[in-house]
Amino acid sequence: MAEKKTLPSFSKSLFSGFIYDDQIFPFPCQKPDENENLEMILDTLNKFMDRYVDSSQFDRDERMPGDVINGWKELGFFGLVIPEKYGGYGLSNTSYVRILEEVGAVDGSTALLLGAHQSIGLKGLLMFGTEEQKQKYLPRLATGELIAAYCLTEPGAGSDAGGIKTRAIWDEKKKVYILNGSKMWITNGGLADFFTVFAREEIKMENGRTEDKITAFLVTRDMGVKSGNEEKKLGIRSSSTTALFFENVEVPFENVLGERGKGFKIAMEILNSGRVGLAGGCVGGSKRALRQILAFVKEREQFGKPLNNFELIKEKLAQIAMNIFVAESMIYLTTGMIDQGDVDFSLESAMCKVKATDNLWDDVNECLQMAGGIGFSQEYPYEQNLRDARINIIFEGTNEILRIFVALAGMQERGEYLKKMGKALKDPIKGFGLITDYAMHYMKDRLTTDRLPDVDSELVGSKYEFERWAKNLHITAERVLIKYGKQIIDKEIIQKRLADAVIDLFGMISCISRVDTNIKKFGHSECRHEILMCKTFCELAWRRIRRNILMIDKNEDEAILAIADYIISEEKYNYHSVLR
Ligand SMILES: Cc1cc2nc3c(=O)[nH]c(=O)nc-3n(C[C@H](O)[C@H](O)[C@H](O)COP(=O)(O)OP(=O)(O)OC[C@H]3O[C@@H](n4cnc5c(N)ncnc54)[C@H](O)[C@@H]3O)c2cc1C
Repeated sequence: MAEKKTLPSFSKSLFSGFIYDDQIFPFPCQKPDENENLEMILDTLNKFMDRYVDSSQFDRDERMPGDVINGWKELGFFGLVIPEKYGGYGLSNTSYVRILEEVGAVDGSTALLLGAHQSIGLKGLLMFGTEEQKQKYLPRLATGELIAAYCLTEPGAGSDAGGIKTRAIWDEKKKVYILNGSKMWITNGGLADFFTVFAREEIKMENGRTEDKITAFLVTRDMGVKSGNEEKKLGIRSSSTTALFFENVEVPFENVLGERGKGFKIAMEILNSGRVGLAGGCVGGSKRALRQILAFVKEREQFGKPLNNFELIKEKLAQIAMNIFVAESMIYLTTGMIDQGDVDFSLESAMCKVKATDNLWDDVNECLQMAGGIGFSQEYPYEQNLRDARINIIFEGTNEILRIFVALAGMQERGEYLKKMGKALKDPIKGFGLITDYAMHYMKDRLTTDRLPDVDSELVGSKYEFERWAKNLHITAERVLIKYGKQIIDKEIIQKRLADAVIDLFGMISCISRVDTNIKKFGHSECRHEILMCKTFCELAWRRIRRNILMIDKNEDEAILAIADYIISEEKYNYHSVLR
């Protein structure tokens, strides 16, 4: 696989003390013809959904009607991201995510059907496939004749996906790979005929040694893939989730995807690119929840007034709106980066996923609370919203694992630099250039701040707080790296705090860029509500960042871990009774 030259990641650079604002300003927008095309697609989409997509009925039936799936196929919605020359719409990432958002605003399971097919199921083929492989499969994937699934998770390998055991052995006589093993929790598992499968094989390396490596394969059902029963799930009940079984499945050599032995990297790159689509679907879910609850709190009266008169209700409504605004800003800033091309967006897409999925969960939870008793009833949408939202925090990388990823990947470059610095200090003559470079950077850190370009006067305070806390993040990350060295890998609570700080920073800058760009387009009075939103979010965010950063040094972590160790060793809640 040829290494692509990519622009530095905006958020990774923050950890190293740089602000690459050219990726951020102005906030990306689509070309007018692309927007026109998108509007037309959205119009068709909404008409179709109004008529045929009944989320609560699908949920009760625990299946999606075949004719609705066929309807999606006829409309071409399985080919949104597939280039036109293979029969798809060839949409930009931005348009694609906008569509998933709209679908997510009507039915989570449907967003998952289309998203698992395009964001992850066939994404590997698009990103790493040969021209021959693309010509062979993409046209049938675009029409939905083939539905795609992404097959990584196994019974023994979930978050630790590198531990997969499915095996591919090359059969020299038959000239095929023989695949054996099983996969778990595969979205579209019962519907799909095209699978991106990750399996281990022994590969002879250049040095003559044999290594056990992961390779990606394009597998079709007719090669012998068997599905298990549909899982009975908490939510997204009408989406198909099954185990898959590979028993002597024969896969021709030409179906190896990308380079042999690079399957893990391929698996991660697919997820990096797919996560932002999932985030878009979640924003759609939050918008729907807000719409529903606004209608409810206007009608429902208690203490002689509609609920929407009470401060504690208003606080929840404002928080949901702010959650949506921030996640939306982060997502479409990221899709803009992806559309621009050759940018490392792995951290940004992970942050969008964490933010949008955590937000959706909080939002549907608060909506259920505002609905009171009826929130708990199956006759109303609130409980299904809650059930459907829960999975998003778990799949495509759990939010714990993604926070760890954000912190460690963010610090990696700085860590390597500091390691080199450590070596240079041991041999100062050889490492002189590096030491002076470090000394300059160190001085610069303390004397100046990497600055953002000028923004509208309304946003100067928010910009200042962003710069201040970006600098703080960098200094803190460096201090943490020097203090813990390699041990930082085990310091997950610190990683979580750093991740939350950088997620808030990315949220701040996304809002600042969006609102600044909009003020330039529409003027202050048109944007007064957005200005209020941006300023309020930035105020709340920098206080959270400050708290997270302060707690890296002053915390109760040791005590908390000791409490956990005690109950783990006791295997139960074992404290003296309060009654004795
Ligand atoms: C409905 C559904 C659809 C899915 N669709 C697909 C699909 O299409 N394709 C596919 O390949 N997979 C799919 N998955 C699998 C999904 O990606 C995994 O469930 C997920 O990655 C978590 O793996 P796990 O379930 O084995 O949990 P585990 O990895 O066992 O994790 C359990 C808990 O421990 C935490 N944890 C694990 N390691 C650490 C650590 N180092 N530090 C702190 N906490 C940790 C996790 O965050 C989690 O909370 C799907 C799952 C579901 C439920």
